[in-house]
Amino acid sequence: MAYDDNNIFARILRGELPSHRVYEDDQTVAFMDVMPQATGHTLVLPKAPSRNLLDADPAVFASLLSTVQKVARAAKQAFNADGVVVSQFNEAAAGQTVYHLHVHIIPRFEGVPLKPHTGEMEKPEILAANAEKIRAALQG
Ligand code: 5GP
Repeated sequence: MAYDDNNIFARILRGELPSHRVYEDDQTVAFMDVMPQATGHTLVLPKAPSRNLLDADPAVFASLLSTVQKVARAAKQAFNADGVVVSQFNEAAAGQTVYHLHVHIIPRFEGVPLKPHTGEMEKPEILAANAEKIRAALQG
């Protein structure tokens, strides 16, 4: 299927919709997931358009994974998490709901179950505070 230039993440990347950004460089962006499965749930995207991993130009993977590692380390530190899940879904049958390639970074805490995927919206002030914690950890 073709890439839809009006998907939500394309609109966020163009600045048409807001997001709580934690990181940006020439090739990648990271922002808070609005329906977090755990405290600090963050998404990392390449700026280059593709629906998902399957149609992506392999040239994007080095910068994408480099940002995933940076943000995963920072999110783990920012929330004193016990671990971090890194996940990525391809097409609806696999759980994908937004069709611009993105990687989930989900801090995990011993004994705390994950909330449902695309469950409840988090309050903007909490997302803003969590984004600030990750930005601080990225700088530290
Ligand atoms: P997918 O199911 O495609 O792997 O993940 C899409 C993710 O994007 C979900 O975790 C969902 O909570 C999140 N999401 C959906 N709409 C928005 C939005 O408008 N802004 C942000 N920041 N995240 C979104």
